[in-house]
Amino acid sequence: MSIKENYLRIREEIPGHVTIVLAAKTRTREEMLEVIDAGATDIGENYVQEAERLQGELGEDAKRVRWHMIGHLQKNKINKALGVFDVIQTVDSLQKAVDIDTRAAREDRIVPVCIEINIGSELTKAGLDPDYPVIRELVEEIIVLDHLQLEGLMTMGPRFGDPENSRPYFKKTRQIFDRLQASGFPDLHMKTLSMGMSNSYRVAIEEGSTMIRLGSLIFGEREA
Ligand SMILES: *Cc1c(COP(=O)(O)O)cnc(C)c1O
Repeated sequence: MSIKENYLRIREEIPGHVTIVLAAKTRTREEMLEVIDAGATDIGENYVQEAERLQGELGEDAKRVRWHMIGHLQKNKINKALGVFDVIQTVDSLQKAVDIDTRAAREDRIVPVCIEINIGSELTKAGLDPDYPVIRELVEEIIVLDHLQLEGLMTMGPRFGDPENSRPYFKKTRQIFDRLQASGFPDLHMKTLSMGMSNSYRVAIEEGSTMIRLGSLIFGEREA
């Protein structure tokens, strides 16, 4: 199956309201162009430099899609990141949110962001622990920033061979999402629950995901 066929097959399989973000790490310009030509709307990158390189290679074609930062956002890369990405999915501290807001204000733009939740409290992963009061506090602090639009939550979750094992983590993320939505912040309009990858996207969608991030299922296993 070609990249195009893979993309179209998944696009047809899942509900229309679920966005597919193509995880581009280590992929070539040709691979990305194939999926853009197939109708892809959103691309995710883990590193600022990688996204910069890919955009340079794609030229005008890079402008046909939205670019999402899905990797760990380093504080000293925020300026550069905003030059490359439309959406930042991995905000996990007030300091980063404020830095994004400051830079966005200078450019008179509003940056859509998600808060990253480390739903499995894994030492190796970034994001906020699933500690509701702490998450709620960050939400409260972010929604008053004029140049940030809090769109939702993002999580990786622990990786399992059997995606059923991911279900409790997705469920828990969804519960946090729902609780925030119900908590009565007038300026909070979250629409994105970014969770689910190649081996877990079906379970994630069953648990309420509105945005899945796919790499290997579309492009094949990575060599690196
Ligand atoms: C690589 C990556 C994905 C996609 O992973 P696959 O298992 O290849 O689908 C999704 N999200 C993030 C943050 C990634 O780094």
